[in-house]
Amino acid sequence: MPDCIFCKIIAQTIPSPLIYEDEKCVAFADIHPKDKTHLLIVPREHIPTVADANGEQEPLLGHLITTGKKLAQMLNLSGYKLQFNVGKEGGQEVFHIHLHLIGH
Ligand code: AMP
Ligand code: ZN
Repeated sequence: MPDCIFCKIIAQTIPSPLIYEDEKCVAFADIHPKDKTHLLIVPREHIPTVADANGEQEPLLGHLITTGKKLAQMLNLSGYKLQFNVGKEGGQEVFHIHLHLIGH
């Protein structure tokens, strides 16, 4: 396993309650929330950044977005942000792809 905090959360060697999980991804609360709701939607597959994703992984990236939409509906968010930070200069701190779902 890569030495990756999100891989460890997915494996639950670092416990963080999973708000959602399916065969492709999990979602859990961001430890430093930027709004009332701030979830991270994280693929089970370790891909460092969106810039590293290949064509085969395109459906997986789409799945993260539709999962974000589903979770936003479940949480009754009327409007929200879905955000990927890409690369250090793009504000990315954890190098395992994750989609931020931010709203209130
Ligand atoms: P990014 O800057 O896009 O890489 O986002 C990384 C996010 O992961 C930040 O918003 C952090 O607050 C969050 N984060 C870092 N460590 C943890 C953790 N152990 N559990 C939950 N969220 C975390
Ligand atoms: Zn990882």
